[in-house]
Amino acid sequence: MRLIRALENLEKHPVLRKLTLNDMIQYARLISHLKNDILLPQPLEQSDPDVPPDVLPLSLVDFLSLALKIEQEFIQDSWDILKYYVWECATVPLIYEDFELFRVFGWSRGIAALSIYPRESVCTTVGCGNTRPLKKDTSREVVVYTAANGVQAAWAIQLYCPGKSRPLDPLEYPT
Ligand SMILES: [Zn+2]
Repeated sequence: MRLIRALENLEKHPVLRKLTLNDMIQYARLISHLKNDILLPQPLEQSDPDVPPDVLPLSLVDFLSLALKIEQEFIQDSWDILKYYVWECATVPLIYEDFELFRVFGWSRGIAALSIYPRESVCTTVGCGNTRPLKKDTSREVVVYTAANGVQAAWAIQLYCPGKSRPLDPLEYPT
C-alpha cells in the first residue's frame, strides 16, 4: 500500500493534518510494541496477527490519545488511515520519551512498554485440536530490570485453552 494515500487522507482531516513526521514515527513505534495488547481483546475473526483489527481497545485509545496528544474522538480516524502502515512497521526500540509516556499514561491503565506474552498464541498441548488463537487470559504485574531504562512495570500474560487448567505461561520459557 502506498504511503501517499495515507498522507492524502491525513491532509483532508481537520485535526490529523497537523501531525508531523515525528508524530507518525512515534505512533508507529508505540504501536509496534502494543500489537499483542491490541490483538488479545479482539474477536477471533479480527485476531490474525498479519492484519490490523478494525477497532482499537478502549484502554489503548485512551493511552494513545494522551501520549500522542490527539483527542480521543480522532484516534479511530488516525487508526483508519494509518493502521496498515504502522502494523507492518518493524518493531524499533523505544526511546526514553516513550518509556516516560508508558509510565505516566500507561501503567495506571494496565498498559506497559513491556508485556511478556507466551511465545505461541495458540494451544501447544500435544493432541489438542484447538488451533484458534487463545483469548482467555490472566495478567500478573511484574517488574523488569532493564540496563538502559531502569526498573519498568510490565505485564506477564498467561493464556488458557478452554477446558484446560494449565495455562501457557511466558515465565516458564527462557526469554
Ligand atoms: Zn488446547
